Amino acid sequence: MSHGRKDTFHAFKSGVGLADNCVIATYVWIDAHQEVRSKSRVLQHKVLTPQDAPIWNFDGSSTDQATGRNSDCWIKPAALFKDPFRLEPHVLLMCDVYNYDWTPAIGNNRDSCAKVMLQTAVQEAKPWFGIEQEYSILESADQPLGWPKGGFLRPQGPYYCGVGAGKAIGREIVETHLHRCLYAGVKVCGTNAEVMPSQWEFQVGICEGIEIGDHLWMARYILKMVAEEHNYSITFDPKPVKGAWNGAGCHTNFSTHAMRDSNHGISEINAAIEKLGKRPNVHLKAYDANLGEDNKRRLVGAYETASYKEFSSGVADRGASIRIPRHCQSEGCGYLEDRRPAANCDPYAVAEIIVRTTILNETGDSEAI
Ligand code: ADP
Ligand code: MN
Ligand code: MN
Ligand code: MN
Repeated sequence: MSHGRKDTFHAFKSGVGLADNCVIATYVWIDAHQEVRSKSRVLQHKVLTPQDAPIWNFDGSSTDQATGRNSDCWIKPAALFKDPFRLEPHVLLMCDVYNYDWTPAIGNNRDSCAKVMLQTAVQEAKPWFGIEQEYSILESADQPLGWPKGGFLRPQGPYYCGVGAGKAIGREIVETHLHRCLYAGVKVCGTNAEVMPSQWEFQVGICEGIEIGDHLWMARYILKMVAEEHNYSITFDPKPVKGAWNGAGCHTNFSTHAMRDSNHGISEINAAIEKLGKRPNVHLKAYDANLGEDNKRRLVGAYETASYKEFSSGVADRGASIRIPRHCQSEGCGYLEDRRPAANCDPYAVAEIIVRTTILNETGDSEAI
């Protein structure tokens, strides 16, 4: 321990200074490009609910969310987690971003998602979500972890759920991320190595309503923080490596109370799929960070995807837009899996459009992407 750190340590121990009573609150928000940003603030009181932390602000002109001449954006805490890096009593806050006049800022899809989730019909339907977040670990810009510089590894095959050196690349990140999420109170329910080497997945769920966005975004923040400690970065690009390599998605598993009912669940699932099939383009525009353009590179009708040009569904079909898991078909109830959302989707936008189409029966499609 260096001399300087020892001094700080003694100051903590002896109660000298503010450290004993303070809570460090990290405000996490989403910028105009669907990337997380954060900054921290020292408070002199406990934070037990999001409202215990004050509304704050940041320079929106540095995140493309405001102009320099009128730059202050509001950040309003919406969901509270424990800080898994600084530990208790310190906290992480998932925040809403608002313009100076309290209209939702660019990049804030949470505000409208929350309003939809509060509608009576939606509350009564009890919408559950589970999202499978795929991501790739990068050593430096565009260089996946463990890949030879300027070259490729052995073709896909041994990596999915692979075990051992040369197959599972970056497991220390995955493990640390899982433990930190569980400490924080983020509902991560599993992890696995993916088909492309140094690509991994974690699942968030089951979450009801708006919770899915809060938990998935905080899981993304924690993942980027863990990678940063190793000097790696994380990409959610839907097709990080061109060619014969799988892309990265955010399969969205969805059910309502009726779909989970063992008497008629499966017909409810099929009815929901029929509604989804009538407006594929409205959905595709909400399923990545770039109005569907990014996802075109991924939804090519190969590598376990359906083409973005054609809506399809099927039992156990990983080449369909929507898959009904085999066990749901045989049990006659359960959930559906929308395989179209890209790894860089905003889960608030995805959850909102699924609810609008399947529960609120909104109709009409937009122009093709
Ligand atoms: P896959 O076989 O597609 O890889 P995973 O096991 O990775 O599936 O993920 C399944 C996801 O489905 C999990 O996130 C889980 O929370 C979610 N899930 C399970 N049951 C339901 C349900 N009834 N409604 C919504 N989501 C569900
Ligand atoms: Mn999965
Ligand atoms: Mn997967
Ligand atoms: Mn899946």
